[in-house]
Amino acid sequence: MDKRGWNLENTYTELPKLFFTKIEPSPVREPKLIIFNDTLSEELGLNTDELKKEVDIFAGNELPEGSIPIAKAYAGHQFGQFTILGDGRAILLGEQITPKGERFDIELKGSGRTPYSRGGDGRASVGPMLREYIISEAMHALGVPTTRSLAVVTTGDMVRRETELPGAILTRVASSHLRVGTFEYAAKTSVGDNLKSLADYTINRHFKAIKDDDNPYLSLLRSVIKRQALLISKWQLIGFIHGVMNTDNMTISGETIDYGPCAFMDTYDPETVFSSIDRQGRYSYVNQPDIAVWDLSRFAETLLPLIDNDSNKAIELCKEELSKFQYIYNEDWLNGMRKKLGLFNEKDEDKSLVSSLLTAMYRYKADYTSTFISLSLDRKEDNELYASDEFKEWYGLWKSRIESQEQSLEESKDLMKRNNPFVIPRNYRVEQALKEAESNNDYTLVEKLLEALSNPYDYSEKYEEYSKIPLETKEHYRTYCGT
Ligand code: AMP
Ligand code: MG
Repeated sequence: MDKRGWNLENTYTELPKLFFTKIEPSPVREPKLIIFNDTLSEELGLNTDELKKEVDIFAGNELPEGSIPIAKAYAGHQFGQFTILGDGRAILLGEQITPKGERFDIELKGSGRTPYSRGGDGRASVGPMLREYIISEAMHALGVPTTRSLAVVTTGDMVRRETELPGAILTRVASSHLRVGTFEYAAKTSVGDNLKSLADYTINRHFKAIKDDDNPYLSLLRSVIKRQALLISKWQLIGFIHGVMNTDNMTISGETIDYGPCAFMDTYDPETVFSSIDRQGRYSYVNQPDIAVWDLSRFAETLLPLIDNDSNKAIELCKEELSKFQYIYNEDWLNGMRKKLGLFNEKDEDKSLVSSLLTAMYRYKADYTSTFISLSLDRKEDNELYASDEFKEWYGLWKSRIESQEQSLEESKDLMKRNNPFVIPRNYRVEQALKEAESNNDYTLVEKLLEALSNPYDYSEKYEEYSKIPLETKEHYRTYCGT
């Protein structure tokens, strides 16, 4: 191990050659470290003080000790269409083994062209990289499995988009970058044992416990379905909209990846879409669970030849596993909603209690996160929802449901506060912080926002200003991907 704490392995390079290309990051002119995640650095076993001086590694100008840099091949269904893709602007430096013995990919995003870049420049601009840093770290603090962000550097070079923008590189940390699209790539392009090599590598890396199962590849499918069902349930509970759930943006590990056009819903509306390119609403809030099943069906298809030689039998087995998604998802979501409403036990009527609240929130255009905050604080609001007869009736039912429990009201409130975030990355707050960073090279707002977002369930006064809803949403908020 070197003095900076790098302890890298490169097991991905032991896969068959068609899965990656060895390539180094392209150097940049004048790198500057603008944000660094001390806590994550410590968790990774890195020497934070040394690394903060070594901007060149996070800029791709120098390689960390033990690195064999590669760009990974993958494919994917983008808005339903199959395409061969790959790391067009990302380079995996290696896998850091932490002091606890965990393995994390260390990857640069925006580090130059690769053989998979197609028409792209391999670069990224500072706004979207900071945005990914902010939202992924917020997700982590909210308790949602996600890739993490270690650092952002500006490159000193400009990137050409609609206008010229300052370039930047994000260092992304993930338990792996294996995607549904990696399996689609293997199934589409490989001959012989390549698919099996990938599946075995995946099982060894993420699902060791299923290795000796009778049909480990069916168990692999089952495990990934379960992780994704639990992940999507968490997204729905906090009002997170991913925005581009293409199969190349769905991990095998069950971590959220690819923070392009994602955003948190303000006003509760199941049809909410933020992404400017999602005109059909394919990836709207309400569609996320169904789209996950669609993506997982593409994953299942790739595994068919490994699951059974008899393809009809393999299909039947996969269908059975896929049908379990809805059950796992529904159960986890309803239990999550119970907690958001301070309910410790389960009753048959809970489902209708939750859905009548959501219906009223939709009708009276209530803010999703704030409504749950108000309930947690038992604060009567001066808004249309609280003034409505539907809500008053609902409130009475809810109160008597809570009072029928053996736990005290205080205990219910505590449970609610632990499950209803006080601070989320509100779009207007994120935009404001990014604007300051992009226009004035001033990162104070970004840092303050990150501090608040790292304690999302802390209801103290100092975070009050971050929990406020936007005053007015005149225009529909739009997000853009791939920038
Ligand atoms: P995304 O929309 O971020 O999921 O990216 C889809 C595909 O486009 C991936 O293969 C990316 O690597 C690639 N890509 C996105 N932006 C660029 C860029 N600026 N240069 C090269 N490839 C890119
Ligand atoms: Mg992607």
